[in-house]
Formats: sequence, structure tokens, C-alpha cells
Amino acid sequence: MADVETAQLETMAPHDGEGDDVSTALTTTNTEVAAPGERKVKKIIRKKKRPARPQVDPSTMKSEPPPQTGTIFNIWYNKWSGGDREDKYLSKTAAAGRCNIAKDTGYTKGDKVTGSYFCLFFARGICPKGHECEYLHRLPGIHDMFNPNVDVFGRDKHSDYRDDMGGVGSFMRQNRTIYVGRIHVTDDIEEVVARHFAEWGQVERIRVLNTRGVAFITYSNEANAQFAKEAMAHQSLDHSEILNVRWATADPNPMAQKREVRRIEEQAAEAVRRALPAEFVAEIEGRDPEARKRKRIEGGFGLAGYEAPDDIYYARGANAVNPVGRQGLELEEEQRLMIEADQVEREEAEESGIFSSSTLAALKGAQASVAPKPAPKASSGPLVAYDSDSD
Ligand SMILES: [Zn+2]
Repeated sequence: MADVETAQLETMAPHDGEGDDVSTALTTTNTEVAAPGERKVKKIIRKKKRPARPQVDPSTMKSEPPPQTGTIFNIWYNKWSGGDREDKYLSKTAAAGRCNIAKDTGYTKGDKVTGSYFCLFFARGICPKGHECEYLHRLPGIHDMFNPNVDVFGRDKHSDYRDDMGGVGSFMRQNRTIYVGRIHVTDDIEEVVARHFAEWGQVERIRVLNTRGVAFITYSNEANAQFAKEAMAHQSLDHSEILNVRWATADPNPMAQKREVRRIEEQAAEAVRRALPAEFVAEIEGRDPEARKRKRIEGGFGLAGYEAPDDIYYARGANAVNPVGRQGLELEEEQRLMIEADQVEREEAEESGIFSSSTLAALKGAQASVAPKPAPKASSGPLVAYDSDSD
């Protein structure tokens, strides 16, 4: 048992090494003969088994945090967030604490039990229990294996993501990428993001949309992504922003690839449209009599006697009026909305943003008026800008 503990805890307190080496050196200069061996053993044990410290003063806690077992997760969630949904884009309250891996890590009662989960409150920097906690107070590593139906905190995953991509996530897909919005934009935003998110585990890839204050961080291990998502929720980086942290709808790289494919298809389709008479294109695209009927109904937008011109109705892209024209964009729609909401939020919150409020108002107006326009205009919408910004 003791061996297992020391092995697990060995990696926890490397920064204590120097101090201990100094004191060990001092004891060897001691002239006593019998004592050193004994003392040395004690020192090593202490070094490898540093108890976790409480992150907040227990006396300041209003009540005990409820247990975090999966089945009562919802009760816990209600207690902490007042409902199943976090306020979608409006959570303005900064996190109550922040985990400091270097200083807070240590052994707990959880280390004595195989298969213990990680402490959610530790990740959030607010566990008052220290080494008395029954959950782990350290970062997940590659040897921490859990049932894919739960996250590292022991919370049940769901069959699907929540609409706002918050919460525990889905057991249908391994997700190693978190979305982070409302980052304060500075020239060194990439360095800032990398520095803050490296604390929670090995990062495989960071993608910062630097003018938008948005980043996608992919960890090498899913467990670290789960930990980071909790650790950074509602935190600040180098400024007093309040981060919006969610699951990414998809890994950014495949998204970019897919968009690239779609853009090429759209360009090809546009070339065909331009090369052929409009009537002919319309006939090809509306060949299906059912689609024709649908166009007459939907293309009227509820206005008696009106039917949308073909170039509007058959437009492709995120803003297409015809649902068929938006096909393949559904997955990203939510993320796009999140990005836009974060951006608007940021612009509104900070007068020193890259756009003046009048520019922003103009942009908003432009977005609204883009909707019923044909494909070329639609494809210069947020998704494409997102591409060019990031490359
Ligand atoms: Zn704890």
C-alpha cells in the first residue's frame, strides 16, 4: 500500500526537491552516526507524500460541498448553477477560486482507494478539505483510466451534448478540445492562452482566433481536457475577462478541412452557375417536383404572391434561406453562434475593442441584411472570415 502511494505521489511535488536536497546535505555534515539513515528515510517519505493543502479556509465555507457521485450530479448542479443550463452567454460571475497545480497538489484519502475520481472542487480551486478529501487532488495522467460513461470527476456523461456545449459532455465521442471565448484581445494573446492552459496537462494543439478573442485548445488526453474545462470556467487570463469555456463542437482541424472542401465545392458550383443560363441552373437545381413545390411554399416567406428568385433560394452557405443550402453547416452553427455571441459580448463590454461601437452596429446590420442574399455574399459570412482570421 505504501509503495503504491509513493509511486503515485512521486510526480506530485518535484519542486520540493531542492529544499530537501539542501537539508539532506546538512544532515550528512552532522557528526552523529546513528541518526542519518533514519532521518533520510523520513525525509524521502515526506517529500513523496506531501499532503494536499486546503484551497480555501474551511471556516469560510457556508456548507459542505455535496458529494460528487454521478447519480446525484444534477442535484449538485442545481445547487451550484441554479438550473441545468448555465446562463447561456451571460454568466458574468467570476470563478470563486483558482486551482494552483504546483502548490495545491498533494495526496488525499482518495489516493488510498483504487479508482478514485478527481476532485471537482480541487479543479475549481475551492476544495476546503485538503488531504482529508476523498477525491484526488492532482492532475489526471495517462494512467488514470475511467469508464467512458463518466468524466474524471465521476459525473455521468450524456448521450449527447447540451445545446450550449457546456456540462459534462457526451459519451458518444471522445472530445479532447475545449472552446474558450471572451478572451481579452492583446498582441500576445497566443502566448497568454498557451501559458494559462498548459497548467492543466499536455497540450497537443492550440488554435487562437486572435482578433475574435476565441481559442480552441486540444489536450493530448481527454481527461486533461475535462479537468481544464472545469479549472478555467469563468476564470480570467492576464486581464479581468470572464472566460466562456465549452466543449468544442469538433476538433478544429477537421472543421477547417471540411470547410475547405465545402468552399471548393461552392466555388465550382458558382462557376457552373455563371457559365450556364440562369433558367437552366434553376431547372437543374429544382428538378425534383417536390423541391419545386417546397420552393413555392418556403420561398414565399409567408408573403402572398411572392416567390424568391432562384439565386436567393438556391444560395448555399450558413446564411442560406433554404434549409438545403445550409446542409453540412448544422454542426458548426452552434459554435458559430457562440463565437459571435462572445464577440458581441466582448465588444460591448470593452470600449477599447478593435471595432468601435458604431462599426459593430454596422456589422450587425450587415449580418442581418446578408441573410436573404445570394451565395457569393453568404459565403463571405462569419465562417469564412473565421478561416482567414485563423490562418
Ligand atoms: Zn477535494
